[in-house]
Amino acid sequence: MKAIVKSKPGKGLSLVEVEEPTLQSPHDVKIKILKVSICGTDVHIYEWNDWAKDRIKHFPQIDGHEFVGRVIDVGNEVKNVKSGDLVVSDSHIPCGYCHQCRTGNMHVCQNLKILGVDRDGVFSEYAVLPDTVLIKIDESIPLKYASVMEPLGNAIFTTTAADLRGKVVLIAGAGPIGAMAIEIAKLSGAAFIIVSEPSDYRINMAKSLGADLVINPKEKSVVEEVLKITSGLGADVFLEMSGNENALNDGIKSLKSTGVASILGVYPESKIKFEMNTAVFKNLTIHTITGRKMFETWYMAINWLKYHKLDLSKVVTHEFDFENFEEAFELMASGKSGKIVLNVTKEEEV
Ligand code: NAD
Ligand code: ZN
Repeated sequence: MKAIVKSKPGKGLSLVEVEEPTLQSPHDVKIKILKVSICGTDVHIYEWNDWAKDRIKHFPQIDGHEFVGRVIDVGNEVKNVKSGDLVVSDSHIPCGYCHQCRTGNMHVCQNLKILGVDRDGVFSEYAVLPDTVLIKIDESIPLKYASVMEPLGNAIFTTTAADLRGKVVLIAGAGPIGAMAIEIAKLSGAAFIIVSEPSDYRINMAKSLGADLVINPKEKSVVEEVLKITSGLGADVFLEMSGNENALNDGIKSLKSTGVASILGVYPESKIKFEMNTAVFKNLTIHTITGRKMFETWYMAINWLKYHKLDLSKVVTHEFDFENFEEAFELMASGKSGKIVLNVTKEEEV
């Protein structure tokens, strides 16, 4: 089968023929991959930055973790999906037995294996995955939106960590996840949504999604603008979705006393400067977010898409043929796109 593979350390990925995977355990499920989408993590692996050098240890390894596909074979013990089902999956594969898994926190399993990072991913014609991570979805959900449900889950987990009803919300970063958060904040009852974002392409994306105020931090002070619009009080809730240290600290300074910050961003370095005393003296609540809440955020995503409450047409901006993945990766790295989907198999070929 065809697969996009990291064959060796260094920049780039290659489209090569690899052996088709087979069921290895009674809980395995074989899936025909229909569409996949590119995440920032895939771009890091493609560009081979310090994080990738440190984290990717197996070569060759199939890249990718965001997909939608159709089940074509199941092991004897599989009960939650059957052949023909349309499925998506969490990228975090939990063990199911550790302390975290047994206390409802599978997303931070102690033995977590991440698709395309710790093991073969899904940028391939077929994949074999354990039944535990698979979610059957409604046939009415458009395939290109189904393929981005994994990052949508990050956006939902972060945005719903605080009660947004009637609140002023500041979102730092309008990348694909920040853009999705704008829509989720609206669905969650936010009164006024402010976005900070320096890139012109993404400023326009945020505006088209209905952000009430978009601030370019290169041109204006985020803190001053937030205080101005909130009559000096500050925002109620801050969602950090940029991975930028300045954006993080501007957000903390823009919050009202007793405000709530939910931080999803991942920073280039572990140790960064943080407005700690500001946070303490404002009596802030700070949530840190990783992955998706399994499986609450998945069911929220399914319902919002199934009942047409969430429109991802302005977030999924490009589709490419699987073969043209390099062009897609370069566009994603340029920041001049929202989410990019690669078409692996046409439905009629399954
Ligand atoms: P992205 O890199 O595509 O988007 C980040 C956006 O932030 C970009 O549009 C960028 O222009 C903007 N930005 C840069 N500097 C800024 C500043 N000073 N102020 C405001 N905005 C600024 O990333 P994404 O895929 O949308 O993901 C968002 C963040 O969440 C990233 O940091 C990513 O690494 C992180 N992430 C975390 C998890 C997790 O489990 N914790 C999962 C997925 C992604
Ligand atoms: Zn576990």
